[in-house]
Amino acid sequence: VPRELVCQQDGRRLRLDTGVWRCPCGGMLDLSPAPALDPDRATKEGPSLWRWRHTFDLTDEIVWRRVTLGEGGTPLVAVDPGRPRVLAKLDFLMPTLSFKDRGAAVLVTLAAAIGADRLVADSSGNAGTAIAAYAARAGLPCEVFVPHTASPRKLAAMRAHGAIVRTVAGSREDAAEAAIDATERGNAFYASHVYQPAFFEGTKTFAFEVWEQLGRRTPDEVVVPAGNGTLLLGVYAGFRELRGAGLIGALPRLVAVQAAACNPLERAWRAGAEVATPVSPVAPGDTAAEGIAIAAPARSRQMLAAVRATGGRFVAVSEEGIAAARRQLAHRGLYVEPTAAATYAGLIAHLAEEPGDRDIVWAVCGAGLKSPA
Ligand SMILES: [Zn+2]
Repeated sequence: VPRELVCQQDGRRLRLDTGVWRCPCGGMLDLSPAPALDPDRATKEGPSLWRWRHTFDLTDEIVWRRVTLGEGGTPLVAVDPGRPRVLAKLDFLMPTLSFKDRGAAVLVTLAAAIGADRLVADSSGNAGTAIAAYAARAGLPCEVFVPHTASPRKLAAMRAHGAIVRTVAGSREDAAEAAIDATERGNAFYASHVYQPAFFEGTKTFAFEVWEQLGRRTPDEVVVPAGNGTLLLGVYAGFRELRGAGLIGALPRLVAVQAAACNPLERAWRAGAEVATPVSPVAPGDTAAEGIAIAAPARSRQMLAAVRATGGRFVAVSEEGIAAARRQLAHRGLYVEPTAAATYAGLIAHLAEEPGDRDIVWAVCGAGLKSPA
């Protein structure tokens, strides 16, 4: 049975090859369960997330080869003096320098496989850069809507890939609305890293790689940035698939990091709420962590449930903490973007509140060279 899209609200099932991104009832879509993970079926073709494609089951065997740019297979390195069991997963070592390449490669492959002739996306920066790059690789025209505060270097990269960049006066949420309008007007494929569940098929490979790199074990905790949930929900799905295949026992605790300046999820988690109440959209200068400055995360219910299901937690970090973390990492040789620094600041705050030696993996989600100095 080919995988289908399943509505979270009314359970309606929709065909994947329709390219639909939202249920007619307005509900968010997930994918029907993935084929069973079998490590013996992971192919050996080098460090590539496509080694795990038997767990995607979205496209045929041919299309991905003309879309891949060699994404996945990133190193896991101990960079903290005195903390050998805290490992950084260097997910900025990707074709467009952020973890978003995992999801973009799989989503654009799906779009190409079902015959999309035009892609529309919206992004604070990294996802747009990734979609633009993979669209170029697949030979598909692409239009990206960005808030006017997006980093100039990311916009330059999108344009270099041939994407049409539409700068939206307003917030990240306004950019999403403009993209949805353009999708519906132009009959395009909405290459959204928020709505399209195929994106999470790519990001789930983060979990498979960590498991393999640790000698087929799960860490105790995984620390991830939390904005729209692109990585958080992918990592959660990946570890659940590992558990479903009987390869691990308990899921690792998910520690999800937000900037204190834009923390709807952390607030909801503290309040015991099932859904996040939107906060005010960020204004320029509110937070350097643009990748997680999401005032109204569309998958908040899922994100909160995932973190709770692992016994995990949310952490909010200050702008001073983000800046200090960025300097500290740079002094150790890692020049990362503020959103990655925020993740590390969250890890340090978490360890201060819950000390003790244990296996922790944190996601270095984006490179510093893409961001303002
Ligand atoms: Zn529905």
